[in-house]
Amino acid sequence: MAGIYIHIPFCKQKCSYCDFFSTANLNLRDKIIQAIAKEISLRKDYLLHQDIKTIYFGGGTPSLLNEEEFSILFNELYASFDLSHVQEITIEANPDDLDQNYIQILRHFPFNRLSVGFQTSNDKTLKLFMRRNISEDTIYAIRNCREAGYENISLDLIYGWPDEQMDDLMKDLDVLLSLNPQHVSAYHLTYEEKTSLYNKVKRGLLSPVDENLSVAFYHTIVERLKAEGIIQYEISNFAIPGFESKHNSSYWQSIPYLGVGPSAHSFNLNSRSWNPNDINSYIKKIDDGEVGTITEILNSREKYNDFILTRLRTVQGINLHELKNVHGSILYNYCLSMASPHLQQGRIVLEKDYLRLTQNGVFLSDSIISDLLSID
Ligand code: SF4
Repeated sequence: MAGIYIHIPFCKQKCSYCDFFSTANLNLRDKIIQAIAKEISLRKDYLLHQDIKTIYFGGGTPSLLNEEEFSILFNELYASFDLSHVQEITIEANPDDLDQNYIQILRHFPFNRLSVGFQTSNDKTLKLFMRRNISEDTIYAIRNCREAGYENISLDLIYGWPDEQMDDLMKDLDVLLSLNPQHVSAYHLTYEEKTSLYNKVKRGLLSPVDENLSVAFYHTIVERLKAEGIIQYEISNFAIPGFESKHNSSYWQSIPYLGVGPSAHSFNLNSRSWNPNDINSYIKKIDDGEVGTITEILNSREKYNDFILTRLRTVQGINLHELKNVHGSILYNYCLSMASPHLQQGRIVLEKDYLRLTQNGVFLSDSIISDLLSID
């Protein structure tokens, strides 16, 4: 089993909180699409002998692609891979791209899952986020998608934005749930360096939300979604059972994936590699018939760290039996001894051979995971 991730590195404008690799300069658009298509062909052996189960168009803004550009990429995918085992093909989309005409274009391609940036229903905050849409656009977009027959829609929610109160979150959840998503990804707002929101906080123009309120928001989201049958399966991800993201679940289960496009990462069990996050160098390398990836061979300690990092984010947690079998007794015992203080303080729990975060531990997940990692 394996997945393919395609990074479309352009956006019409940069959102104020986003540090994903993308550019609002669309001049090189044609060359980028040609280069990505060529990279698909150059790297067709990366996942040799693995059945491709998922394809994910992320970015950036894949919903800026037109019919011809999708055709170029899909033609190359079909030419380079056996896609007969693919179960899920996702496209990330911005609400203001999803008018009826555009959705008809999408219907010409085998997408069966849409991931749409809802973010919030608060128009003032959407403006602060420098999103291109207002809340009404999202409602209209999802209605269009439903009418066109899409039955697997994921919505991204951002919570913990400046001045957000519990009433605001409740309203966001009301609006979001009225759109009947099969899947929700809920992310606490973070202020990433080099983003314009980060600079505003640095200059004292915005204040991050109070930490206690953040925790209350998180618990409210978990419970409210659960009451609607949308169950948490990873720290930030929730789904109606059966609609969990197959592609993202692969990341948490150490399933190999090929990432193409500028800045995309790949993983094949024994190594990780990543493409340049510079569009010109990316295009130049591919034009020269080279793959510009940097590759890091994983040693046993790094494989253990990847295992901890990915598994502890899931609701199921770390399978201790698998940990011992795959990573050996020394790292197994190391993990248990480092987990011990967190077990005593109720941040993680050991149940039926699984070590998992409790709801109280989720907000400390970064430091708990870091304690369990093996450092040189
Ligand atoms: S959030 Fe999405 S649309 Fe906004 S800049 Fe980032 S990648 Fe582009």
